[in-house]
Amino acid sequence: MGKFISIIVPSYNEEEAIPMYYEKTSPILKSLTSDYEIIFVDDGSKDNTEKVVKELAAKDEHIKYVIFSRNFGKEAAMYAGLEKSKGDYIAIMDADLQDPPEKLTEMYQTLESGEYDCVATRRVTRAGEPKIRSFFARKFYKLVNKYTQTEIVDGARDYRLMTRKMVNSILEMKEYNRFSKGIFSFVGYRTKWLEYENIERCAGVTKWNFRKLFVYAIEGIVSFTVAPLFFIIKLGAALMCLDFVAFIVFLVLHLTKVYLFSWPLVLIIVFVFLTAIMLMCLGILALYHAKTYSEVKRRPIYFERENNID
Ligand code: UDP
Ligand code: MG
Repeated sequence: MGKFISIIVPSYNEEEAIPMYYEKTSPILKSLTSDYEIIFVDDGSKDNTEKVVKELAAKDEHIKYVIFSRNFGKEAAMYAGLEKSKGDYIAIMDADLQDPPEKLTEMYQTLESGEYDCVATRRVTRAGEPKIRSFFARKFYKLVNKYTQTEIVDGARDYRLMTRKMVNSILEMKEYNRFSKGIFSFVGYRTKWLEYENIERCAGVTKWNFRKLFVYAIEGIVSFTVAPLFFIIKLGAALMCLDFVAFIVFLVLHLTKVYLFSWPLVLIIVFVFLTAIMLMCLGILALYHAKTYSEVKRRPIYFERENNID
């Protein structure tokens, strides 16, 4: 028998990759359990993805699909898949075989041992990726991890097998602007990390470009930290200190008659002082705003793994 496994495959223009993905993944799933489903989420593809997926579904009852009305992005596709999934164990995988299906066996056995709630993967190399992209990706992870409480693992992929309990927690995070790498970490649970070398996609082209990744990075920062707002306040405070020092220096020079205050200089000192106050007020205002934003997101206050009460 075995557990019911759901695999979610966000797919955007993957007509070539999907058949290869299907051929390679199905036998592995069959070897693990008789109950499984592969949910292809067609994220508004402009090629024949929909047709390919429907053909597979017609000949294999394990194949499920969700077809989006337009392209909503991978985050939305993952959410939809998680929402529709019925499995005890749920995995998210890319359609391009960059997430090695062989790993599913090890992931499944790890969850079966009961010691973990999630088996996640990370790439330890970024071979085959543009150098400049790797550079900025590394910088991004450094920055985010320095300033957020939620740990975001460098090279972490969305490829992971999770228990129903963890997925239910993820689904309770109903925020509209989703940054899954942060969400996975935010919900907690016992996660085991598997590492592997980067694998190049089997067919088709990457859907990410530098601009998209940059926007995604900003999303990650804004969703999980208010550090930039504190930075504004600190900047204001630093400016005020500098201004004050300058004022003292000029005052001493003035009193000792080394250099006499001129009106423009007085104005500059006053102006910098006011700017500093304004920056600090701006930062404080933005913090209140950020608090409202996090209330609006209605994130659950906690997630529990078990209790002996109910
Ligand atoms: N994807 C999606 N919607 C999008 C962009 C990508 O569902 O708007 C899917 C894509 O079909 C693939 C996965 O997300 O299955 C990862 O995309 P891709 O392989 O292009 O990213 P990369 O591996 O290059 O980071
Ligand atoms: Mg890929």
